Amino acid sequence: MSSREDSHSEFDTDFGGRYRATPSIVHRLPAAFPSALLGSGRPLTLRGSGHSCAGQTVTDGELLVTYSPDTAIEQIRDLGEGLFEVPAGASWHGVEQYLNRRGRALPVLPNHLHMSVGGTLSVGGAGAGSVRLGLQVDQVERIQLIDGIGASRWCSRTEHAELFRFALGGLGTVGLIERVVLRTMAHERRTHLHRAEHPTLAALAADIEQVARTGDADCYWAMAQSGRIWSVTGWWGAQGPGRCDDTDCTVAIDLPMQGSHPGKADSRRPNDPVNMWADYVVPVEHCAPMLAAVAGPRDRPLIGNSATVLYALIIRRSPDAVPFAFAPVGPAPVSVGIGIYARVEPDPKTVAETGEIFENLLRRCVELGGRPYLYGVGELDHSDALRLYGGDLDRLAELRASLRLEHVNTHLPLVRLSGRIRGRAPGDAYQEGAP
Ligand SMILES: Cc1cc2nc3c(=O)[nH]c(=O)nc-3n(C[C@H](O)[C@H](O)[C@H](O)COP(=O)(O)OP(=O)(O)OC[C@H]3O[C@@H](n4cnc5c(N)ncnc54)[C@H](O)[C@@H]3O)c2cc1C
Repeated sequence: MSSREDSHSEFDTDFGGRYRATPSIVHRLPAAFPSALLGSGRPLTLRGSGHSCAGQTVTDGELLVTYSPDTAIEQIRDLGEGLFEVPAGASWHGVEQYLNRRGRALPVLPNHLHMSVGGTLSVGGAGAGSVRLGLQVDQVERIQLIDGIGASRWCSRTEHAELFRFALGGLGTVGLIERVVLRTMAHERRTHLHRAEHPTLAALAADIEQVARTGDADCYWAMAQSGRIWSVTGWWGAQGPGRCDDTDCTVAIDLPMQGSHPGKADSRRPNDPVNMWADYVVPVEHCAPMLAAVAGPRDRPLIGNSATVLYALIIRRSPDAVPFAFAPVGPAPVSVGIGIYARVEPDPKTVAETGEIFENLLRRCVELGGRPYLYGVGELDHSDALRLYGGDLDRLAELRASLRLEHVNTHLPLVRLSGRIRGRAPGDAYQEGAP
């Protein structure tokens, strides 16, 4: 039924490297049969390329690894009208390369392309293009989702719309995304880029607010590392908007493909530094206080430490974007995504102290009306989760019960936090929108 691996060490940890366990069995696509595995009723953890950082894909039980970038490419189908059907185990790099050869491109890509399509869409997916076109989940036309008895159904804004809303950004809690239909756009190879340095994080916040207000950029990102703070604003094509006439301007060719190398998320040794990464998405008007918070406490600054990187994106979603249940989205039309990427020594004291800083950042994000990106570190408590997700938490428990998914991704904090089932027997079959 599935391929048993000789060595499991490759999947003992994730990109974070903090949590370790050896899976009892590793099933890998394309040899494995996902429907049979999900339908078996045996406990199962789902994994794409393992770039999450808090043990989401680490297990001592059975693991299903969907990431299969080489074989997945052979299964991409052109559906016409700019729509492409892509296996969830494909990498963004493979998909973009495939599309570019056919004159098409993905509207929003992450900055690292060697991650699985299904895993990224299970957390959200943001990139430089988010300033114009929202998240990667906003570019999804439909998904094929496998439930806990191995049945698969197509879900979209109009078909099983509730499952669509829960699955994208849902960490695999409502089933395995097996295939995805993505919207694409015409491929423009050139991007006119304008780079600006900023003396302080407050100045960066002003830049972000100004770019968000102007609203004409096609791409935007900002970074801070080793005392330097800079942002890059871009426009598709060679020209730019006509205001970039200084030496800080360049024209990049195939920008998304630049600098994305297939680093391995899972070949980490026990004594390697731990990657403590997290991203927070807050309404753009709260950009300044969130940036001030990520600078860290005065006595233990996070920024300024050369091993820590700050990364910021602007996210503008269309007014009719789907209000995904757990993705890092909120009601604000324009948000800022702020990532803080720390690399710390693996001793328990340092990890615990850094973890405390991240817990405080998570609290601050919630106070500011934002949402965390659930691939990262930092655990929500029940009251914060209720404030963020409201009735969707209870509904998640109901959906998991009716889709017979209690054996899948059970270890996730989101599953633990999801409410107890009220008024329905756990065995009731899944019905769209049932209360
Ligand atoms: C170096 C690096 C760069 C990054 N850059 C960006 C960026 O620019 N923009 C951005 O938005 N994010 C970025 N991220 C975060 C990234 O989106 C998440 O780590 C994401 O989880 C990566 O996908 P994955 O395949 O590794 O998922 P995994 O870590 O394997 O899985 C994530 C979650 O999704 C579930 N899952 C995996 N596959 C499926 C599936 N097919 N169906 C259902 N559930 C599934 C897993 O059970 C798990 O809960 C980056 C992370 C790293 C480490």
